[in-house]
Parts: sequence; C-alpha cells; structure tokens
Amino acid sequence: MSSSATTYHNDLLASYLALPQGGKIQAEYVWIDGDNGLRSKTTTVDKADATFEKLRIWDFDGSSTNQAPGHDSDVYLRPAAIFKDPFRGGDNILVLAETYNSDGTPNMTNFRHHAKKVMDLAKDTEPWFGIEQEYTLFDLDGAPFGWPKGGFPGPQGPYYCGAGAGKVFGRDIIEAHYRACLYAGVKISGINAEVMPSQWEFQVGPCEGIEMGDHLWMARFLLVRVAEQWGVKVSFHPKPLQGDWNGAGAHTNYSTKAMRVEGGMKHIEEAIEKLAKRHTEHIAVYGEDNELRLTGRHETGHIGTFSSGVANRGASIRIPRHVGAKGYGYLEDRRPASNIDPYRVTSIIVETTILDK
Ligand code: ADP
Ligand code: MN
Ligand code: MN
Ligand code: MN
Repeated sequence: MSSSATTYHNDLLASYLALPQGGKIQAEYVWIDGDNGLRSKTTTVDKADATFEKLRIWDFDGSSTNQAPGHDSDVYLRPAAIFKDPFRGGDNILVLAETYNSDGTPNMTNFRHHAKKVMDLAKDTEPWFGIEQEYTLFDLDGAPFGWPKGGFPGPQGPYYCGAGAGKVFGRDIIEAHYRACLYAGVKISGINAEVMPSQWEFQVGPCEGIEMGDHLWMARFLLVRVAEQWGVKVSFHPKPLQGDWNGAGAHTNYSTKAMRVEGGMKHIEEAIEKLAKRHTEHIAVYGEDNELRLTGRHETGHIGTFSSGVANRGASIRIPRHVGAKGYGYLEDRRPASNIDPYRVTSIIVETTILDK
C-alpha cells in the first residue's frame, strides 16, 4: 500500500482494530447529505445500549452538508436501520439515520420519511424490489480506474462479465465490498463487471418496502468506504464519460404478491399500463442528468417515450424472458439512473401502481 495521504496503512490499522474495547462499542451514524452523498460520524455507547430503542437521537451541523442555513444549522439524526460494521468488526454498528429539522419536520433531503408512509399504506400487497446499482471507479487524478494514462482502452465488448487481465479493473475492491455487505447484513444478491471498463454493478434485493432504500444506501456507503481504502473514487453519475461508452443505471425490479403467483402476468401488465400514464412524473425523480444516459442507444429506451416488452433491453420496462415464459414474477423498470434516491423511486412506483395516485 502506498504511503500517500489518501491511502490507508491498512496493515498498521489492523493491529489497533484488534484491541479490546472495554465494554464499549462504536456506533457510526450514517446519513444522506444535501448533495446525494453520504456522511457519517461516530459515538461511543455501552454495549447494552446498542439497540434501536436505546440509541439516541443525535445532531450535526447541517450548514456544512447543504442541509440547513447557518443561522439554524442543527439537523437531527433519528436511527432508522442498524447494520454490523465490517470496518471495525466486533459488536460495532452502523446506524442509518433519517434527517429532521429542529422544528421536527423532515429535512428536504429526507425522502425516507414519505417513502415509509407510502410503504405502510401498501403493506398488504407486499411490494418487493431489487435494484441493480451500476457505478464507475475513478483514479484520484480523475481518469477511469486502470485505464491507460492519457489514452483509452479498446472499444466495449470484452469487459461485461469479463475475466482476465486487461478486461477487468479493480476486482479486489469489488470482492472486498461484496463481503463487507454480507457481513453488515445488507441483502446484496450479486455483482458483475459492466460493459464499460471499470464500470461495475451490484444488486440488492429482493427487499420488501422501505428496506430497499435502507439496504441500497448502506451498500453505497460500504462501497465508497471500501474504495477509500484503495484510494479510489466511486462515481454514481449516469453518464460518467461521453462518447461510445455505456452509461450507468439503477434498474429497479418490482413485484407485488399478486404478480409473484400464477396469473401474475395480468397484474404485471396492469402495472405497466399505469406506469405508462405517469412517465413524466417518474422521470422527474429518476435521477439527475438521466437525459445524458436515456438516449435510446447503449441498451436504453429514449427518455421522451415510454415503451415495454419481453426481454427488450431498449425499452423503459422490460419483462424478463423467464417471467414471460412462466407467466408470473416481476417487471424491470430500466429508466432509473445510477444516482437515484431509491426511497423516491420505490415510493413513486408504489404510488402509481398500488395507491393509484
Ligand atoms: P438483469 O438480468 O437485468 O441484469 P439482475 O440479475 O442484475 O438482472 O438483477 C435482478 C434483480 O431483481 C435482483 O436484485 C433480484 O434481487 C431482483 N428480483 C428477483 N426477483 C424479484 C421479485 N420477484 N421482485 C422484485 N425483485 C426481484
Ligand atoms: Mn443486472
Ligand atoms: Mn447492468
Ligand atoms: Mn437489468
């Protein structure tokens, strides 16, 4: 490991992380900031107090995270979900927290508050989601990770699910992240190398209701923290490079109880009809700069038109081939960009298809 200021001495750190903690644990509160990024800070708690009921409501300076004005800068952190901490190990925990203003209203960046209400209303239909999170790794100097200095790798083709030197970039980071997720309790369901070199994907799900947003955000946090140890940046931009390179999406797979059993196709088709009528409303919350990605090329449907089809990767909504063959299962909304807030995407899908908004 290099000794630059931005890479860790993981070998030295390991001996300190192995020390006993004297009955105390570290609780790392993680929250979404005002720029769709993640922040965190740590507090010591007694081991016995590391439960959802006993963890305290904490606060932070929202004027430093684009979440509050300087004259009224306290923003509150209310614990929402607990995961194990793969960096500190032991009984240490990660606490995903929702942000609230000093008057008790949800912060303007807190989309979980609304999503939770929506999911509670739709509970009986058991909405399941699986999100395919695509992302791109970058060197600290701004070039895609592992690309030839000042140049480009060969055109797309050998990289998707690739094996072999020159075809995959950063596999060690990706493997470390996968295990970190499993340890933490994040419902990660797989990984693959993507079409553009140094672009990867992980999938989280199936998750029911609000859990989708919680687990995806925590998986992202783990990814940026793992990559930090390698001195590598993670980009969630939907079109990190112009030109003949694939963009990055967050395909959102979705089903209800009725869709998952025999006769489910009828319910899948009904949901698609409802989604077609609210294309514009959905696109509005399906990520910034998504128009750069949804061009109708590079395995996307054009941002301005709604389309659907079995096994069609150029459509807004795809019914996977195996679902079409069986007659029940789930649908895949291919429109969401890699930089979505999953709370917004999952809640609008439920509002449109179940709550008939
Ligand atoms: P693709 O073929 O589009 O690359 P992936 O295998 O990458 O698909 O991702 C499929 C996602 O769908 C996974 O996250 C998985 O958990 C999720 N999934 C599987 N079954 C269901 C279901 N019944 N409802 C919602 N999501 C599902
Ligand atoms: Mn996939
Ligand atoms: Mn993909
Ligand atoms: Mn997909």
